[in-house]
Amino acid sequence: MAKMVLSGFAGLSHVSESFKRIQQEYGDDAAFTYLAATSDGFHVTPYGFCTTSFAVNPCVRHLKCFHRCKRYVPSGLPEHRITLEQLRGKLSAMREKAAAKPANSIGRKNQIAHADELIAGVDAALSAQPGAVVFPNGTDYSDPEKGLFA
Ligand code: SF4
Repeated sequence: MAKMVLSGFAGLSHVSESFKRIQQEYGDDAAFTYLAATSDGFHVTPYGFCTTSFAVNPCVRHLKCFHRCKRYVPSGLPEHRITLEQLRGKLSAMREKAAAKPANSIGRKNQIAHADELIAGVDAALSAQPGAVVFPNGTDYSDPEKGLFA
């Protein structure tokens, strides 16, 4: 985690933001002591990396990292790409099913729009540089209030 924070790889994580703030206000010793105590602030998800600390807040979106979560960082690892590609296939099938419903079906428009939004997120994840935050202006799903009601 320290390597990620110092190299900027975990640039938007709670840990990184707090580390920089503590370093500025209290100096290196306090910042590194904080880092040592918070080394769980990094997780592997089915789609890449999550740069939040679940000890601080759990993920309220159940690992829907590709739904514009600002804590999500793609890894570029083959297994994560495969998971994203498989997911894209399922979402496309879901979208086609919704689009095949009669035009005046209840919820059809919303279902298509939701599928489009998720597909766009997956596409962004697939085309992003490994280690780069995909959705810097997205929602923080480790923030319970924003995650649940966004
Ligand atoms: S907080 Fe975001 S990146 Fe982390 S597991 Fe949840 S959805 Fe994924």
